[in-house]
Amino acid sequence: MDALLIGTGGSRGWPEPGCSCASCCRAAAAGPGRAAGQVLIDGTVRLVPGQPPQSSPRTGPGGPAGYRVRPVPGGWDITGPDGGRLLASAGPGLVPELDDAAAHFDIALLDLLASPAQLGLLRARGLVRRSTAVAAMYADHRVTSAEELARRCRVWGVEPGRDGMLVSGPRPVPADDQGPAGPHRTLIIGGARSGKSREAELRLSGEPAVTYLAAGPWAGQAPDTEWADRVAAHRAGRPIWWRTEESLDVAGALRRGAGALLIDGIGTWLAAVMETAGMWADPPAAQASDRLAAKIEELIAAWRQASGLVVAVTDQVGEGLVPTYPAGRAFRDQLGWLNQRLAAESDLALQMVAGRVVALPA
Ligand SMILES: [Zn+2]
Repeated sequence: MDALLIGTGGSRGWPEPGCSCASCCRAAAAGPGRAAGQVLIDGTVRLVPGQPPQSSPRTGPGGPAGYRVRPVPGGWDITGPDGGRLLASAGPGLVPELDDAAAHFDIALLDLLASPAQLGLLRARGLVRRSTAVAAMYADHRVTSAEELARRCRVWGVEPGRDGMLVSGPRPVPADDQGPAGPHRTLIIGGARSGKSREAELRLSGEPAVTYLAAGPWAGQAPDTEWADRVAAHRAGRPIWWRTEESLDVAGALRRGAGALLIDGIGTWLAAVMETAGMWADPPAAQASDRLAAKIEELIAAWRQASGLVVAVTDQVGEGLVPTYPAGRAFRDQLGWLNQRLAAESDLALQMVAGRVVALPA
């Protein structure tokens, strides 16, 4: 089965006529842009948002002969005469919802700007497989640039759709294909509200199984309302099928290595570990430094040996005022050193600045 992507833009294309946002200005400067989304399947069935699939005018009027078209909320589940299977979002912003009767697809045309996590769920349910050709449709100014869309698509292991592109499925998958060879240990560093947690979640959206590890502070000890609120807010914003764990045993979670792991975050973990090691006592508890060092070594060793896909979020420190209290200075120093060591052992280190991603040189 194949799908000719006649247009891959949002309902008004990209750039949108008359829109002067930075994304549309970039898209206009970059070239011809993207026409409003439209797809031609096998040269015979035309998909236009807001309309049921139609036979191409070239092949005559009426419904598409030989094609079984099943409407699902937010999309179309289409089976060709040769058994080829295609899933399509019904339009910009729409996410197909499939019931248990759905079988796996050879081609999936999805609005991944509306919900990248739909990809992870489709993979978890076996509806999108390694052989499924997946293309991102309905791109528009919800994303800052075509480069940013392409970057996300590489992370998710899909194609950014382009006008005129022919998508064919199933894709051949070599017998020795071991899956994505991308970075498997990613460290994301950034200041408060820099977008680091969002980037971490985005990077793992296409994964079928993700554990979100909320590490610290005082996990398992006296409840901290601010932390509890933060964990609850993050939980509300994440895909509901992700598993959430609250634990300080980051090394243990890294060693278990079941599915993808999002560690949020190293700074809160360190603060809690320094607390439990007795570093905040005045004077610090005997052997507090040794206990802290042992915990840090255990974390580094587990991170170095992590075999699964892991993304850790950590805080940028040292750019503000020098902390007034010795405890603040000790935390700043410890986290600065820990960040250096984790970054050195990461396949990819990213810095977040004002919601933008900066890849740090290896
Ligand atoms: Zn715009």
